[in-house]
Amino acid sequence: MKSEDSDPTSESRPRTERDDEAQALTGRTLTSIDELRAAVDSCRRCTLWKSATHGVPGEGPAPAELMLVGEAPGDSEDLQGHPFVGPAGAVLTRALQDAGLDRQTVYVSNSVKHFKFEPRGKRRLHIKPSASEIEACHWWLDEELRLVSPKLVIALGGTAARALLGHAVTVSQVRAAPMRLNAASYIWVTVHPSYLLRIPDDAQKRAEYSRFVQELRDAVAWINRKTSHPEK
Ligand code: SF4
Repeated sequence: MKSEDSDPTSESRPRTERDDEAQALTGRTLTSIDELRAAVDSCRRCTLWKSATHGVPGEGPAPAELMLVGEAPGDSEDLQGHPFVGPAGAVLTRALQDAGLDRQTVYVSNSVKHFKFEPRGKRRLHIKPSASEIEACHWWLDEELRLVSPKLVIALGGTAARALLGHAVTVSQVRAAPMRLNAASYIWVTVHPSYLLRIPDDAQKRAEYSRFVQELRDAVAWINRKTSHPEK
């Protein structure tokens, strides 16, 4: 999958050995998540790598029954090189615990693997990735889906749903209902944990958090039912 941003030869700087290595790694099918981690850091399929600190691939067991996909790394993720380690990640980890899930047993990733931001003083403000960046990065998501082979993929927010489904959806209209994603997996759409952080009213925030946790519980129950009765 290519975007208009994806050709490293369009850059003004001279081509380096790292570019050749990146092209070699990203132009072929990967055999493990460890290999994917190294390859993402060398990716030049779009221009987001230029200002980011690290490529941030997904983490977790492969295969795994449950995979969670968010939008893109934020400031903390970019600095640490791991997904969902900032404030939204803390909400996600707590919600998984409250739903009875150990985060170590699920594969957690993002639709786009490099941080997109705008400098604002000393801060770096997150910017939503563009359609072409999501498309360029879809190659990695496909590789993760193939290597992890989840029964259920939870799309955290509209960007993840769009990246996985290939078209835009309204989260409130498709929320928490399983839909076929591919031959191996179903998709389940819910909100991104950063949405929960942005709710100003405490009572509403608690209610939305409880709903999110219940959806995670429902997703696990759905996987268990599907495992017991695969035909349903
Ligand atoms: S955001 Fe994705 S496609 Fe763009 S350089 Fe990073 S890994 Fe490659």
